[in-house]
Parts: sequence; C-alpha cells; structure tokens
Amino acid sequence: MLFDTHVHLNAEQYEDDLEEVIQRAQEAGVSYMICVGFDRPTINKAMELAEKYEFIYACVGWHPVDAVDMTDEDLIWIEELAAHPKVVAIGEMGLDYHWDKSPKDIQKEVFRKQIQLAKKVKLPIVIHNREATADIVEILQEEGAAEVGGIMHCFSGSPEVAVECLKMNFYISLGGPVTFKNAKKPKEVAAVVPIEKLLIETDCPYLAPHPYRGKRNEPGYVKLVAEQIAEIKGLSFEEVADVTTANAKKIFDIN
Ligand SMILES: [Zn+2]
Repeated sequence: MLFDTHVHLNAEQYEDDLEEVIQRAQEAGVSYMICVGFDRPTINKAMELAEKYEFIYACVGWHPVDAVDMTDEDLIWIEELAAHPKVVAIGEMGLDYHWDKSPKDIQKEVFRKQIQLAKKVKLPIVIHNREATADIVEILQEEGAAEVGGIMHCFSGSPEVAVECLKMNFYISLGGPVTFKNAKKPKEVAAVVPIEKLLIETDCPYLAPHPYRGKRNEPGYVKLVAEQIAEIKGLSFEEVADVTTANAKKIFDIN
C-alpha cells in the first residue's frame, strides 16, 4: 500500500486521460493521494476530485510564485474550505526565489498569514521551498509552525536542514529526484532521516522519477521512489511502503 502525499491531478496535463492515470495508480498499489491546489482554479479542481474519489484528499493554499494575486477574500475562502472533511492540510505555501513574479516581502507576508491560518484551523502545512531555505526555516520558527507541524514537500536541501525541520515537527517528503543518478543530496537525506519521518510523493505532473525523467509524471510512479528509498536504507520495499503510508495517515489524520 502506497500513499502519494503530493499530486496535481488537478492540472490541465490530465484533462484527457485522468481516469486511466488513476486506474494505473491503483494498479501500482497507490491507496491514498493528496491533491494540492494552490490558486483559485486548482483549488476548485482539487475539491472536486476529493469529493468524487474516496481515496483522494485535498490540500488547499496559495503558491508563493502567485503571492501577489492572493486577496483577503481568498484567505477567507481557504479558511472556509479547511472545514471540509476531505481537506487535510493547508498549502502548498512557502517561498520561491527562483521566479520573480512576486516580490520577496509579499511572499513572506502571504506565507506568514497562511501559517497563522493553519494554526487557527489546526491543520498541518505543506511547504514549497525553492532557493529560500534559510528564510523558510526562520519564518517557520518565528510563527511557531511546530504547533501544527507539516511536510517539507519534495525536499531538496541538505541533511543538516532536514534535521532542523524534524526538530520543528516536520516530515521530509522525497519525490522523483531521489531516483536521479546525479542527485546526491536527496539520497543523503534519504539515508539520514529516520523512516518514521519520511514521506513519499510524485509532485506529478512534474519531476518524474528515473527512467521517466523529463516525461509527464503520474501517481503510479511513486512506487519507484519507495523502491529507491528501500535500496538506500537497506529496508524491504514493503516496509518503506507500510511505514511511509502510516506516517502520512498520522500527519493528515486519516484513519
Ligand atoms: Zn506541488
């Protein structure tokens, strides 16, 4: 049994064959998925999927790249959605210094507001981090994010930063990059972080694991991530699948 903790089946890349993609995921043993919405259209679609499929849950929040677009009404809307039984986390939120659509100060403000919201509704948070590790860690500490905890989604930092995040009550989620031949850091992180603190994800349609690198990703491929972690940690595939699924059910409070 596998739990893909970060999918974007709400993306337009699945418009034509969503049913087949979901079918293949189930055949691969994926029993749960978290569909992440990060702006108005993708949040709406994530809610639609979570209502339609028993095994799909939703995570709703605002992406840092689009921080300039978030209004007060959007924040209220996200808070209202948080009461829905299938909404299990707030995000993805965070900082992205790769793209410059949203100035850093606005990204930080929108990030802080969402952490405060997550604490108010008592849901864990899902972090998107691109080239902004130091600021992310500082804001999580200042805002007391440890109270709700959460997930460092598609973690690409060093083992040292991973350990910092564990201290703040966060899980480390690894995706396709851990399978890339030249990906030194994710492999080190997989080795250092205890299996009880690891999650697996695809972040599909992005970041497809080896040997699909560069192609459209899909939830069924999360199996390849679990296999790679099993190899690195010297555990069986079943153990990695079982423990990461139990970890995800715990953080998302799914029975
Ligand atoms: Zn994502």
